[in-house]
Amino acid sequence: MSKQRLTIALQKSGRLSKESIKLLSACGVKFNMHEARLMVHSTSHPIDLLRVRDDDIPGLVMDGVVDLGLVGENVLEEECLERQMRQQANEYRSLRRLDFGHCRLSIALPTEQQFNSIEDLAGLKIATTYPRLLERYLQEQGVNAKSVMLTGSVEVAPRAGLADAVCDLVSTGATLEANGLREQQVIFRSQVQLIQRADELSAAKQQMMDTLLARIDGVQLAKE
Ligand code: ATP
Ligand code: ZN
Repeated sequence: MSKQRLTIALQKSGRLSKESIKLLSACGVKFNMHEARLMVHSTSHPIDLLRVRDDDIPGLVMDGVVDLGLVGENVLEEECLERQMRQQANEYRSLRRLDFGHCRLSIALPTEQQFNSIEDLAGLKIATTYPRLLERYLQEQGVNAKSVMLTGSVEVAPRAGLADAVCDLVSTGATLEANGLREQQVIFRSQVQLIQRADELSAAKQQMMDTLLARIDGVQLAKE
């Protein structure tokens, strides 16, 4: 990566892409977007965008491959816990919580299933894309349940007989309902964070960084 230009990792295509680009645009950072491009150079500032899957963003920042990242706290915390377990570098600086990408990670059960308390999860298999967050929660609650890792189609797992319950991201709950599931317990609330690599930036990058942060704060204030 460049020594002079600030590199920002953001989601290539998905729920966070539009808002991430919108934020940078509102800060006056201009670029010619090419849908297919991995790397996009700003035409107005010494800033490069790296467009990747959201799951890759925390690791790119923690490994110091990029300077900044825009990512959901669900993905960030999961990667942190995973790296902690594997004794890999998991440090980063939390710069700002941003006002988009709001969702919650919740445990949901088939609608017909009785649920009175967390203890009712004992012995169940729970499908999730976030096994570390789920396991941490179960441990804190002292409940013995098993997580089943699925990277997609989590909400169909119970009907397919792969699991008894799910632990999945929810914003409105419509997807759960459409799959015969009822949200029972929120285990994590998430929004997007702007994160920075743990080590010092070069003077040139730090200067760009200070300008960018001041503008982000301005944009956030104007929205309130
Ligand atoms: P990618 O191809 O980048 O891996 P993805 O399918 O994992 O994409 P998206 O569905 O685009 O990811 O979601 C990206 C992020 O958006 C989530 O990790 C979460 O932080 C946030 N988000 C907000 N609302 C929701 C929701 N209802 N369901 C899923 N994610 C949501
Ligand atoms: Zn993803």
